[in-house]
Amino acid sequence: MKKIFAMILALTMSFALVSCGGNSATSSGAGSADDGTLKLAEPGVLTMGTNATFPPYEFYEGDKIVGIDTDLSAAIAEKLGLELKVVDMEFGALIGAVQSGKIDMCLAGMTVDPERAKNVDFSDSYATGIQAVIVAEGSDITSVDDLNAKLEAGEDFLIGTQESTTGYIYSSSAPEDGGFGEEHVIAFSAGAAAVQALQQGKVDCVIIDIEPAKAFVEANEGLKLLDTEYVSEDYAIALPKDNAALQDAVNNALAELIEDGTVQKILDQYIKAD
Ligand code: GLN
Repeated sequence: MKKIFAMILALTMSFALVSCGGNSATSSGAGSADDGTLKLAEPGVLTMGTNATFPPYEFYEGDKIVGIDTDLSAAIAEKLGLELKVVDMEFGALIGAVQSGKIDMCLAGMTVDPERAKNVDFSDSYATGIQAVIVAEGSDITSVDDLNAKLEAGEDFLIGTQESTTGYIYSSSAPEDGGFGEEHVIAFSAGAAAVQALQQGKVDCVIIDIEPAKAFVEANEGLKLLDTEYVSEDYAIALPKDNAALQDAVNNALAELIEDGTVQKILDQYIKAD
C-alpha cells in the first residue's frame, strides 16, 4: 500500500491518455464476444474511462494508471478479445463520455445512483463502498451523529467533499433526505483538495469513499478516519444505454469474472483486511 500513498501526492486532474498495455490478442475463452459487430469507440479496442485520483481503485504509478478498476477492465477486455485503453478524465465528465460514446464503459469506483441511471445503465455491482468521515485529530466530531447534533443545534460547520461524487450529493441534500444542506458543504475539484482544506482548518471534516479515505489519512499527518458509516453503496460499471450488444458482452464477462473468483482476487490484492 505504501506505493499507493506516495501516488496520492502526485494526483493530477489533467486529461491524459494512457494505454494500459492491454491484451490485443484475441481470446479464445468461452466469454470471447467480439466478432467485429460490437460498436466501440475504436474498433478492436475497449476504451475505459476513469478518474485516476481514487486509490486503490485507480491511481498513477509513475505515468501508468493502475488499480482495481484497471485490472478488472483488463480482465474484461481479455475475455472479449479486445485491447484495453484507459482514458483519464474528470469524474464529473465520465457519465457524459459514456453517453456520447467517447468511452465504452466507465469504472471509477462509481456508485450506482438513480440520477446517473437516467443517463447510463449500470452493470451488476462488483464492489461495495462506504462514505466515510475524515477529521483532524482532536476534532469534537467523533461520529455522523455529532454532525447531526451540530445541525440541530444550529452550529456552524463545513464538510469538504469531491464535486460530482455521491459524498457531495448525499451530504449537500436536505436534512429530511439525510443530508446537511448545501450551506454546510463545499465541493472541491478533487478529494485531495478537500483533504488539504481539512488540514488547513478550512473545513471541519471530509466525507469521501472509505478506501481513498484510508489512503489520505495514511499519507497525511494529523488526520483521523472516524469509525462511523455515513452511507454504504454499490460500485458498478457504467455502460451506454443505446448499445445492447456492448452491455451484454461486458455484463457476461463481469458475471464470469465474479463467478470464477477473479473479481474477489483483484479486490483482495488491493484492499487488505484491517
Ligand atoms: N463512489 C463515489 C461516486 O460514485 C466516488 C467515486 C470517485 O470519486 N471516483 O460518486
